[in-house]
Amino acid sequence: MKIFNLGSCCIDHVYHVPDFVRPGETLPCTSYEIHPGGKGLNQSLAIAKAGMRVEHGGKIGQDGAWLKSLLNDAGVTTDKLLVTNEPSGHANIQVSSTGENAIVLFGGTNRQLTRPEVEHMLSSCEAGDFLVLQNEISELETAINIGAERELRMIFNAAPMTSAVLNLPLDRLELLIINETEGEALTEQNNPDGIISTLAAQRPSVNILLTLGAAGAWYAGREGRFSATPPKVDALDTTGAGDTFTGYFIAEYACGSDIQSALDLACRAAALSVTRAGAASSIPSRDELQA
Ligand code: ADP
Repeated sequence: MKIFNLGSCCIDHVYHVPDFVRPGETLPCTSYEIHPGGKGLNQSLAIAKAGMRVEHGGKIGQDGAWLKSLLNDAGVTTDKLLVTNEPSGHANIQVSSTGENAIVLFGGTNRQLTRPEVEHMLSSCEAGDFLVLQNEISELETAINIGAERELRMIFNAAPMTSAVLNLPLDRLELLIINETEGEALTEQNNPDGIISTLAAQRPSVNILLTLGAAGAWYAGREGRFSATPPKVDALDTTGAGDTFTGYFIAEYACGSDIQSALDLACRAAALSVTRAGAASSIPSRDELQA
């Protein structure tokens, strides 16, 4: 059994500014940082840090070669991560003195994956392997349909939410992972009970994992209903909490742990991640969690 994550890689350019730039204005920034990003990359790192083998497929440009090295250094296999001459997915992020974000996102190579490329990547997966997906790449419907034909166990994190998600063949998934915003967009319900019961009624064969920020997470699926609450922490930066949670949960779920243990571990990992700055860099290793 392998875990194949077909997902995004992104370069985050972060500019600290006194205030967001206004139309017609040229605004010097006070500092500049460059960070690895993309929900796909973050989740592959989190699965690897949780101690599971994971293969990351997708597409980057030459400018993203360092993202591939980062994945390799964490033990992630990247034989199916294509490198082209187009620019990688990247984000220009202004962070104001009050800590607010304004972001320009360019999908780049994440949005240039083609059907034949997806077919080729998934040709190495066998029945019973896990296919992990998020909503940041092109050809998602192709991936889900091929995954179903190949009898892959598909886990889809519907983040970031867009209207395109509503048209995906979600019934073919084994597990759908959402936060409250995504749950509301899918069900028009604004509370966890309503979201879970609506999804369970609409798609009875799909297991649902709903994350609820500091309140933890709920799972409803064929094993029953479970929930977990994270330890109380002083949150410094919640960026990447969802990816840490998702990666840890998937690692446990894929190796057959019981749902309650998977939820508890994922909550602890995500709680530790919010006490640290950054997204990819805030994902703890299993050793750090045990300590
Ligand atoms: P997303 O970041 O995708 O919106 P959530 O905000 O639901 O997702 O957070 C994902 C998980 O991270 C939660 O289920 C929880 O386990 C953990 N988490 C998030 N915020 C906090 C917090 N303030 N304290 C402790 N854990 C948190």
